[in-house]
Amino acid sequence: MLNELRAYISREGAIVIEDEVVCDAYEGVGRYMIVTHAHYDHVRGIHRARRRGVRLISTNATKDILVALGKVRGYEVMGIEYDKDYDVGKGHVRLIRANHILGSAQVVYEDQEGFRIAYTGDFRQPGTPIVDEPDVLIMEATYGRRDMIRPPLEKVYEAFIDLVRRTFDREPINIFAYHGKIQEAMEVLRSAFPDVPFLAPMRILWLCEIARRHGMKIGKVIPLESEEGYEVRRGGRYIAFYHSTYLGRINRGISISLSGWNIGKVVRKIGARRYIVSISGHADFRQLMEYAEAARPRLLLVDGSRSTYAEAFAKEVKRRLGLRAIVMP
Ligand SMILES: [Zn+2]
Repeated sequence: MLNELRAYISREGAIVIEDEVVCDAYEGVGRYMIVTHAHYDHVRGIHRARRRGVRLISTNATKDILVALGKVRGYEVMGIEYDKDYDVGKGHVRLIRANHILGSAQVVYEDQEGFRIAYTGDFRQPGTPIVDEPDVLIMEATYGRRDMIRPPLEKVYEAFIDLVRRTFDREPINIFAYHGKIQEAMEVLRSAFPDVPFLAPMRILWLCEIARRHGMKIGKVIPLESEEGYEVRRGGRYIAFYHSTYLGRINRGISISLSGWNIGKVVRKIGARRYIVSISGHADFRQLMEYAEAARPRLLLVDGSRSTYAEAFAKEVKRRLGLRAIVMP
């Protein structure tokens, strides 16, 4: 279903580029599948792709995470470096940094005729370089509605640290988040509390090991179920980290869950000992708009398979920037 855009987004969320490369979901076409990061909604169809002999490509950090989470069942994943060109089929591809979770990347594909297609994947600012004047730019638009504006990330971090500081004297603290955001929270809290014991279950510890190997500064994390972990828990002064699916299952101490959807307020108290802190891995409306404006693509393709507000964003881009913008699928 290739068109003059040379790219499309399928209903399953596959970003299909020149029928050669598919990103973040498998669609039955293409000989290469690029996984921009290890979140579950970006690896759909990976087993089907592998069965068909499609080559899997990701950054080295994403590859390590996929392996640790058991998402690639021993398949060979080609881990590649940021900012280097690799030949894929009739063109070449380059992965560029995206600030979202450890290992996240943007994709730039250039074909033989010099036609450039860029895909942001999930991202936020600061820390995501803007691809300059691609022919087609494919963007996420999670927070694509114009009132979806949040404070700068460093302000959010400050409020998070402050909440932990205020509550820590009274009780142990439990942090709940998705993979990747857990390690981000550890890095933020470690900078403020260098000596506080961190505890986590084994599965999270594996990812911490990967995060360390790729340069994140999270310090020591003690296995929850170890003897040392038991001693620390008995003492009652610690910060424990759990995957979001554990929310509600831990009764002791203060619970803080990290979720991007709480846009209006950075810290929200939702119970006597329960809080939500709005740390998001996604660009807010203003950052999305700034990206589109600075990139100046000939055509903007907004990913409607993962964003409820894709239409709203495309409309604002047309109105404010005068760019051609369409939503797919
Ligand atoms: Zn993501």
